[in-house]
Amino acid sequence: MTTTLDRRGRSPYKRRRAALWAAHTDGDTCPRCLGPMYRAQGLQADHVETMAMVDPKALPDSLSHMVCNTRHGQAVGAATRKLDERFPDPEQREVEKLRIVAEVTARVHAELRAHRAPRTTRTSRTW
Ligand SMILES: [Zn+2]
Repeated sequence: MTTTLDRRGRSPYKRRRAALWAAHTDGDTCPRCLGPMYRAQGLQADHVETMAMVDPKALPDSLSHMVCNTRHGQAVGAATRKLDERFPDPEQREVEKLRIVAEVTARVHAELRAHRAPRTTRTSRTW
């Protein structure tokens, strides 16, 4: 695999991750649970766009909570297990994978958003 390293020897993945961290402001919204993200919570470079999730070469497109990323990753992993056996035709497999990933993502996001802890900081806000 050919990767273009920058002067500090970082791969495109690491550069993207560093850029996502640099752009992060504590309190930014997690794209998965819609809760506020704080560095101390444990954040990860994540693939939130469906196309990025199914493209192994895609760079991360957002930070998200580690727990949200993990929960989503496990659900997608379980739902797409043995996909090549279920869909022997590669073209059909790609279509089904996209469909399944989108479906699982919608379900996991709904669960995460429904069970998110109430924001106790809301009452201290001035708006
Ligand atoms: Zn989250």
